Amino acid sequence: MSKVDKNNSALKVNEGIEQPPSVNKEAAKRFAKRRIPKLSPEKLVEGITQGNRTFLSKAITLIESSHPKHQEEARELIRRCLPLAGKSIRIGITGVPGVGKSTFIEAFGKHLTNRGHKVAILAIDPSSNVRKGSILGDKTRMEELSTDLNAFIRPSPSAGTLGGVAQKTRESICLCEAAGFDVIIVETVGVGQSETSVHSMVDFFLLLMLAGAGDELQGIKRGIMEMADAIIINKADGDNIRKAKLAKAEYQNALHLFPPAESGWSPQVLTCSSVKKDGIDVIWDMINDYKSHTTKNGFFESRRSDQKIQIMFESLEEQLKELFYNNSEVRSKLPILREQLVQNKIDSYFAANKLISIYNNTHK
Ligand code: GDP
Repeated sequence: MSKVDKNNSALKVNEGIEQPPSVNKEAAKRFAKRRIPKLSPEKLVEGITQGNRTFLSKAITLIESSHPKHQEEARELIRRCLPLAGKSIRIGITGVPGVGKSTFIEAFGKHLTNRGHKVAILAIDPSSNVRKGSILGDKTRMEELSTDLNAFIRPSPSAGTLGGVAQKTRESICLCEAAGFDVIIVETVGVGQSETSVHSMVDFFLLLMLAGAGDELQGIKRGIMEMADAIIINKADGDNIRKAKLAKAEYQNALHLFPPAESGWSPQVLTCSSVKKDGIDVIWDMINDYKSHTTKNGFFESRRSDQKIQIMFESLEEQLKELFYNNSEVRSKLPILREQLVQNKIDSYFAANKLISIYNNTHK
């Protein structure tokens, strides 16, 4: 492996952010923009509440840092922004690579900003890492939206685990809402676990599909279809229109087989052409229908409350695990018990119970 040139490394400026050993020029430019801000949380909040996108960007960079000092400032930032957050509709969008997610978001986002909305687009891509290259890609995406003053686009944080990426995205949603963005779009790739994670942070979950791409279900797991509040068949243009209509009927039939949703909402199947911008308005109208329907029956607020509670438990479980496995007594006794287990001297449950009592004894 080549030796790292410190002067040319993103490590030079971004203390606390996980960095690759060396970066290409494009990536270096991107990281240079993500310097950890020297501003206090108060100043950052002031800028955010004025809707300043540069401040918002800096604040998200602070959140993404794993440096303890930055984490402390990030907590303070979120604490201050929380009372100002929550006043948006959060929309999750997923679909396999190539289905047209970025083209759709560009058309949908422009439709909204033209109507006076402020749209923030965040991505969740656990594979995102400069070295490996992310699935959501480094290609130039959403060119029109990226120069729109009423839009804010932020690529996926490059932290390793899905849990870490999800937490940072949730916190970014809070900051975007405090900055006055009233539509938050969270995009992910329909190939892994990240959909469940996105589903747990949005109000409305959109699944983008294609017509006539071999198997109608395109490897999208049933569980993901079950999470969808709407399925959009994209690329319904030209010769594809007929196939899109057929696919729409098939998906509608498939959805009827699922149990009724707790929200009282029947998932819709719509077609659209992101390139021709056909059907985009109908999708936005549908999301508004969903919002008024679920606001009336109380589901909108209860889903958000459930999400908050679920996150608390998830975070608690993660931290408990960390506390346990980092405990020095547990660390020293675990290999011994493991060996005894392999040699059939004890059984698995005895080993687990013993480790718990070892852990408990360290707190007496
Ligand atoms: P992503 O990987 O899901 O973000 O997909 P992209 O937005 O990058 O789109 C993949 C390809 O499909 C690109 O060549 C787009 O131009 C094309 N595409 C996207 N939406 C449409 C559409 O509505 N109609 C047609 N004909 N092509 C589309």
